[in-house]
Amino acid sequence: MAMLEVKDLEVYYGMIQAIKGISFEVNQGEVIALIGANGAGKTTLIKLLCRLYEPTSGYITLNGIDIRKYSYKEYTQAFSVVFQDFHLFSLPLDENIAAGTEIDEAALQSSLAKVGLTECVQRLPQGTHTRLYNNNGAGVDLSGGEAQRTAIARALYKDAPFVILDEPTAALDPIAEAEIYEQFSQMISGKTAVYISHRMSSCKFCDRIVVLDHGRIIERGSHEKLIAEKGTYYQLYTGAFELE
Ligand code: ATP
Repeated sequence: MAMLEVKDLEVYYGMIQAIKGISFEVNQGEVIALIGANGAGKTTLIKLLCRLYEPTSGYITLNGIDIRKYSYKEYTQAFSVVFQDFHLFSLPLDENIAAGTEIDEAALQSSLAKVGLTECVQRLPQGTHTRLYNNNGAGVDLSGGEAQRTAIARALYKDAPFVILDEPTAALDPIAEAEIYEQFSQMISGKTAVYISHRMSSCKFCDRIVVLDHGRIIERGSHEKLIAEKGTYYQLYTGAFELE
């Protein structure tokens, strides 16, 4: 049984049909990339997966059970979501990562290590207790890449089996971005993940790629398969044309 199954989803926003008969499965431990141009339906799919929105028709199951049958609390406990516009707070780093739960030092250190922030945090004036955001000298400003890693560390700290990551591109310089892609599989190892990609270069490490266009799936498969097919993914990847 697939951990997550998306079946025959249709979404209308008034007269606009944003999602048109989308079905895919995500198996335990797999990392799936969703890609597509602006307006292809990626954000709508995330909203459906997070239960922020209900489909007009079709359904999503988690471990074989329709997600609407779980209590909202129970369902959201199974997910860690890193939104593209994630927010960190003007609080100590450890409190940002524990996100309102009691701080477990071992889990904190383990999540920092997974995202490659151990040394960075050791250099901070009060280590993990350092306040974020330099308001009148009270704290530190992390770089875009460090902030992104912190947001991923927060998701890992929660230790939910399923991770949704909406790729941040605006906050990252190309070097930080490349580093995060390269280490992403290691960062989320053992988790099942849906990764919303806004840049082609980031898909390669995923087990499977789903290409969306105007609310439909137009291609799906591994990076190697889609490259060999020489279709839209191939053209996007080789730069024959670009998303957006
Ligand atoms: P982007 O990469 O720009 O974020 P996307 O792939 O995430 O795009 P969606 O945001 O899911 O795409 O939008 C899919 C379609 O649905 C678009 O045509 C969009 O204009 C439309 N849409 C999204 N949200 C709404 C809404 N609340 N009301 C009306 N139309 C909407």
